[in-house]
Amino acid sequence: MSSDDRVPFVGVGTDVHAFKEGRPLWLAGLLWPGEVGLDGHSDADVAAHALCDAILSAAGLGDLGSVFGTDDPQWAQASGVSLVSHAASLVAGAGFSVVNASVQVIGNRPRVGTRRQEAQDVLSAALRAPVRVSGTTTDGLGLTGRGEGIAAISVASLLGLS
Ligand code: MG
Repeated sequence: MSSDDRVPFVGVGTDVHAFKEGRPLWLAGLLWPGEVGLDGHSDADVAAHALCDAILSAAGLGDLGSVFGTDDPQWAQASGVSLVSHAASLVAGAGFSVVNASVQVIGNRPRVGTRRQEAQDVLSAALRAPVRVSGTTTDGLGLTGRGEGIAAISVASLLGLS
């Protein structure tokens, strides 16, 4: 078995959390002062969670729920960045290396593009591979368009043995 035997795998991840007044907003690994936070067991960082799902899926390791368990007290209050870091270790342990990943944040606010480099730096450090961050809106339609929450979609490219 040599590294030349490895083949490309892609994985996709999606996450959505609803806004909740009184909670801090953690998004794409960053704290966003002055913004309404998202509800959830952990910090509800949809971008980090979608990124985790993308790499776990590509490696055939399941998903965030099956790996971390939403009821597991070990992961309650866990930061999204720490979940990315842990998922990256699991993926590496399964013999995969992450080539790169992309995360798109879907919502009215905040505009992630205003802090893109910061977000990319934090998520890339956690993943130990390059992460690109982008954002979009939905023209007032759907749950994000109505301002009920934030969604994120992620795609990751990995190399591993089939
Ligand atoms: Mg989540």
